[in-house]
Amino acid sequence: MTLAPAAPRAAADTHCPYCALQCAMTLTPAAAVPVGEPSVAVEGRDFPTNRGGLCKKGWTSTVLLDSADRIAEPMRRAADGTFSPVSWGDALDDIADRLRRSRAEHGADSVGVFGGGGLTNEKAYQLGKFARIALATSRIDYNGRFCMSSAAAAGNRAFGVDRGLPFPLTDLGAAETILVLGSNVAETMPPFIAHLENARAAGGLVVVDPRRTATVRLTENGGGTHLQPTPGSDLVLLLGLTHIVIAEKLVDERYLRERTTGFDALARSVGAWWPQRVQSVTGVPVHQLREVARRLASGRGSYILTGRGVEQHVDGTDTATAAINLALVLGLPGTPHSGYGTLTGQGNGQGGREHGQKADQLPGYRKIVDPAARAHVAGVWGVDPGDLPGAGLPAVELLNSLGQPGGVRSLLVHGSNVVVSAPNVTRVRAGLAALDLLVVCDFFFSETASLADYVLPVTQWAEEEGTMTSLEGRVIRRRKALDAPSGVRNELWIMHELARRLDSPGVFSENPAEVFDELARASEGGLADYSGIDYALLDSGAAVYWPYPVGSTGTPRLFQTAFAHPDGLARIVPVSPRPAPEPLNTPGSLTLITGRLLEHYQSGAQTRRVPELNDAKPHARAEMHPTTAASLGVADGDLVELSNRRGSVRARALVAATIRPDTVFLPFHFAGTECANLLTQDATDPVSGMPEFKTTAVLVRAVREEVTA
Ligand code: SF4
Repeated sequence: MTLAPAAPRAAADTHCPYCALQCAMTLTPAAAVPVGEPSVAVEGRDFPTNRGGLCKKGWTSTVLLDSADRIAEPMRRAADGTFSPVSWGDALDDIADRLRRSRAEHGADSVGVFGGGGLTNEKAYQLGKFARIALATSRIDYNGRFCMSSAAAAGNRAFGVDRGLPFPLTDLGAAETILVLGSNVAETMPPFIAHLENARAAGGLVVVDPRRTATVRLTENGGGTHLQPTPGSDLVLLLGLTHIVIAEKLVDERYLRERTTGFDALARSVGAWWPQRVQSVTGVPVHQLREVARRLASGRGSYILTGRGVEQHVDGTDTATAAINLALVLGLPGTPHSGYGTLTGQGNGQGGREHGQKADQLPGYRKIVDPAARAHVAGVWGVDPGDLPGAGLPAVELLNSLGQPGGVRSLLVHGSNVVVSAPNVTRVRAGLAALDLLVVCDFFFSETASLADYVLPVTQWAEEEGTMTSLEGRVIRRRKALDAPSGVRNELWIMHELARRLDSPGVFSENPAEVFDELARASEGGLADYSGIDYALLDSGAAVYWPYPVGSTGTPRLFQTAFAHPDGLARIVPVSPRPAPEPLNTPGSLTLITGRLLEHYQSGAQTRRVPELNDAKPHARAEMHPTTAASLGVADGDLVELSNRRGSVRARALVAATIRPDTVFLPFHFAGTECANLLTQDATDPVSGMPEFKTTAVLVRAVREEVTA
């Protein structure tokens, strides 16, 4: 399919379309380019977080603007599964009719919306509003539930607010000790590691990971320490470190007295986790536990950072809470040159969780069950508060309801590829097949779009205006560098058109600046208050961190004088380990952990279409220890099958001593028979709704391949 040529424009200062580091870049459309070259040049731009650097995903991001795979007009699927083009008018008329029919016959909650953490703030906000007042459904959630929900729940519980990094990223540059738990930043966001240099130079970079990752390798040659616990034992490890800090009287007593509540109960609860017991559960030697605890308490600038490796578990909220408890007993959060933070992954994983895509939230981190919050937001939207639905279902429950009695029968998907990224994807695929209507907005025929009744082609980042909120809570501008192909539309326009056809109350502007201004008003007085921000402020180059109430200059550093609970105190919440939802370490089984590769982003729907990235990592490889491989009769490069009761995955073995012998690793960027989420569980954290992505028992066997003559 040929795309209409885009009109050339001036260079645009914007940010990378992928991860939450949101590296600054300049895009320059070229008037004429050789065949096969991207029509837009990309350059790294100096910015505090990336200092001009980009990773290979950022460097190659413009390739997708001209991709031959791009969908150029709305597509409708016929009964035989083939797609054919349809006009925007016919597509939207039919979608609106079918949504209306679903509501009339099965109730408003028969329509569901599934959003994404890559959507701009404007789209995320508008999607929440569209669900609540145009569709009147409570059934909206998003793929950020799979990423940040446990850290968010823990942050809210302890601090009263959830901002991934409550300090500018550059603050890490002065630290002498940084404890990184379950994050491989050297691969996921390489420019980030410049901020770890000071800690490395001081020998104080501590990385907790069952694998010897690229980030772990930064601890070598005097850079710090690698703790390599048994998968799933992170919570015990943190309880053990806290035990040592308390037992060795390394706590900050004044801080605990003046800024926290709950210490006594914590001290009692961690009493049972003495170092030798922790060593026996985690495999981390006592001397390393003591060394790290003492180092964190040394008072020379310490930070604790968590990532998905410790959060994507059924006890993810409690594990993140244990990390926060450790930070609080050491007096780190809100203290100069110290702190706790969680490393947001998706491009707008921060802003995407603030403005109403979550099942239980309204814009500004307001709770949908709070009458005052409903009244405020309903006033901005021009509707009666009583007409707003209540709390919906978190992502896994929403997906498990698809096609079920009382569940969702018509689903709109924006910026998400759930048949690759959700846990237990066989069940998700069956749910999608049982729907009356599936509409997917995407640039490509992602694996989810390929199952849709309608695929609506949408603009890519370089073709649109908007804002994103980076991992440090800084609101930044996304700027348009070129016009979109003529058949493609922005999701704000799609929501405007559908709302009109559905006779929705309220106004659905297609203008991002107008939507942002409305978002700012809706967030006013909320925890994530954007009311003092507008495009003019952002375009001035100011460093804009929320909360940013009208008349303020924003908040680069939270918690300096008070936490966000009404009494200003942080909550120390004792937590304890629970049994895994499925037994691990059973005879013959290995523990599967999943994660990321440098070359790919999320479900890979975009990066697998970038030749340079795909050529480098075209397939999933199953990383296993040489001892394990030998016991299975597997050599490097052999085909292996990983299986459990949910499904099986086939991948080539990557035999390396970089992983524990009891563990096998699969990247989660691949589809089909290489999809790691064929194996993962849809058991969820009772507080956050986070699925258990990170520990799954699997059997691994060599696959005998036919040798052809
Ligand atoms: S993917 Fe992340 S680290 Fe890489 S260039 Fe983009 S924003 Fe930066």
